[in-house]
Amino acid sequence: MMPSGSEKPTSILDASEIAGARSLFGLNYQQLTALMAEFGAPVYRAKQLSEALYRQWEEDLGTVSTLPKALRETMQKSGFKVGLPRIIESFVSIDGTERYLIAGNDSQTVETVWMPDGDGGEAGDGSEAGTDLRRATICISSQIGCAVNCQFCLTAKLGIIRNLTAGEIAGQVVAVLKRHKVEIGKKRINLVFMGMGEPFLNYDEFMTAVRLLVEEVRIPQSRMTVSTSGIIPGILRFAQEPVRPKLAISLNAPNDKARTEIMPITKKWDLAHVIQAVRQVPLRPKEKVTFEYVLLGGLNDRQRDADEVGALLRRANLPLKVNLIVWNPGPGMPYSMSDPHTVHLFQYRLKFNNLPAYVRRPRGRDIFAACGQLKRTTELVQLGGIRFR
Ligand code: SAH
Ligand code: SF4
Repeated sequence: MMPSGSEKPTSILDASEIAGARSLFGLNYQQLTALMAEFGAPVYRAKQLSEALYRQWEEDLGTVSTLPKALRETMQKSGFKVGLPRIIESFVSIDGTERYLIAGNDSQTVETVWMPDGDGGEAGDGSEAGTDLRRATICISSQIGCAVNCQFCLTAKLGIIRNLTAGEIAGQVVAVLKRHKVEIGKKRINLVFMGMGEPFLNYDEFMTAVRLLVEEVRIPQSRMTVSTSGIIPGILRFAQEPVRPKLAISLNAPNDKARTEIMPITKKWDLAHVIQAVRQVPLRPKEKVTFEYVLLGGLNDRQRDADEVGALLRRANLPLKVNLIVWNPGPGMPYSMSDPHTVHLFQYRLKFNNLPAYVRRPRGRDIFAACGQLKRTTELVQLGGIRFR
């Protein structure tokens, strides 16, 4: 991360050092241009370097053959490396989902999930349901751990360990794309910023990563969704962004009282103010805001909860849809999964209230890859995971 105030780096060489052992991955075109200038190389070298990093997914500066050997050597002598994050461990689910541990810039690991056929929640209109080999979804982490402390989420148990850098965030995507030899433009890739952490509490690095992914890696912004627990200052900044993912809000309860019990952050930013902030986001044609609702058995999955959610969201008067997520269990957590009949009734009741509602298919529960299960659970998976009702 960049230091503040008087410590601000004077050159891009300093900046990249701070971003982590002089990694090139994570620097945008302007920064690469400044870097090339510091090495006395012409501007077009920045374009070549950007292509090598974000389009060809090179891992070794030594093999970037578009750059002159002398320039590569000088850069290496100055301590520069590509710095594309490496996948160090992977778990494969019976449903095809893969969960990766990816090396961060330090000894920490980052979690990323590959869903070969999505979870039905991306388009939200059901049109993407079913197996389609031409599309996939990558679920990306924005922090290691999380400070928000939602009671039903396993990531919360870690607390906040640290923010990820823009390079570490965008790097998860490229590492996974490379692993699956994805050809951008041929295969439809959805990105969901719904892994570990609260993206809007690491706003600058998260948005820098988004811009890298849109402008350099060339994944359309319309294929990206960010989910927030309702960090109002972040939502208001997001509303000003010319390039941005679609927005999802973790609603999870029909009113402030019930939501405070499971998401204590509601005390700081209540639902009325969160919805008011969401209304500031200028939506693109046909764009909808997603409201996610984790169904906790017997707690927030009753018919009257659905009616209250219906009334709340109708008052919001926004183009929106609701994504229902059956709670994914974690060890020692005092919740249960809603049974399929209850889930159906809840969905039906929302529809009855004129709200489009979809049920997300659970992905990778057996390898702790599903929503809210990311917690570097190597040991648990090795022990055979946990039992489900
Ligand atoms: N921190 C952000 C994004 C990551 S969580 C946020 O909270 O929005 C992504 C989604 O998973 C959120 O909607 C969250 O409510 C949900 N979630 C968390 N724990 C879960 C669990 N155990 N089962 C199902 N969904 C969960
Ligand atoms: Fe953090 Fe999201 Fe988990 Fe809440 S649900 S603790 S905001 S990752």
